[in-house]
Amino acid sequence: MIDIKHLSKYFNNQKVLDDISLHVNAGEIFAIVGHSGAGKSTLLRCINGLESYSEGNLSVLDKEVKTLSASELNSLRSHIGMIFQNFSLLNQKNVYDNIALPMSVWGYDKDAIQKRVDELLSLIGLEHKKFAYPKELSGGQKQRVAIARALTLNPKILLSDEATSALDPNTTKSILELLQEINAKLGVTIIIVTHEMDVVKKVASRALLLEDGKVIGLGRIEELFLKPDEKMMKFLGEDEELPSEGANIRLFFPSNVSYQPIVTQMARELDLNFNIVWGKLEKLNNHVVGSLVINVDEQTANVVTHYLQTKTEVIWEIL
Ligand code: ADP
Repeated sequence: MIDIKHLSKYFNNQKVLDDISLHVNAGEIFAIVGHSGAGKSTLLRCINGLESYSEGNLSVLDKEVKTLSASELNSLRSHIGMIFQNFSLLNQKNVYDNIALPMSVWGYDKDAIQKRVDELLSLIGLEHKKFAYPKELSGGQKQRVAIARALTLNPKILLSDEATSALDPNTTKSILELLQEINAKLGVTIIIVTHEMDVVKKVASRALLLEDGKVIGLGRIEELFLKPDEKMMKFLGEDEELPSEGANIRLFFPSNVSYQPIVTQMARELDLNFNIVWGKLEKLNNHVVGSLVINVDEQTANVVTHYLQTKTEVIWEIL
């Protein structure tokens, strides 16, 4: 669906995207995550051809973006919807006309427009606001209208640039649920740019982590959050203060075992005492996964890892 290979981009002499390679699969919700200035928006804008790129390849729906003529680019963009932090609605137009805008621009007839806008109003749950103006809507309602407008032409891809950053937590949750519904019902591939880890955890199946234009992480959410490498730890701001004595063993609980009393059972069966020195449970998408670090004395470490290996589905590593 989207294939990026060794993509680099400069603004003046500053390299803002540095050798990015990634593949986004059709039908997934993919997150591009990073702090402010990391290059997230620039990467998103390269995907829909709003920015050029200096080196590498970027193919969207099997088309190399930089080789497209202006009309080919327009045609590609009709398959890509986009939503923004500031909604970008036209204030002098009502909800109906805002949603209808892309179809009007492409010259669809009135009946087709009316049918589509009514369908979308029902999808976003704002039938009763059909003739309201943006200033009469809450932030969440404005973003719903922007989402409907982005879907008017039945795009294959929806790009979301910090779409929930201006919203309160409850509204953020409802907008993310709407995006999940759109992904599941309509099969639209969604790319979410965000600096908020909670957004990533809630909806994305995979993520790219960017720092100063470079990829510092790429993979499935469960792996990124539960087996974070050093860079990822730093990015998440998580510092484990682990004991220097004994052996520290990190246990990963995949979602199918995250609620099982494995640790207490192991302690009982092995007649062991150990310290839990770090731990967390994370809700990722619809799964709950856990990670725990236990500290045991050096001699017992083998007994513990043997037990984990043979009697449980827990994944472990000695730190
Ligand atoms: P993010 O979306 O992660 O906050 P951006 O993609 O907006 O990051 O910006 C990445 C870098 O590129 C920043 O250093 C920013 O200052 C720079 N940049 C973005 N747009 C422009 C531009 N039009 N001209 C020059 N520099 C830019």
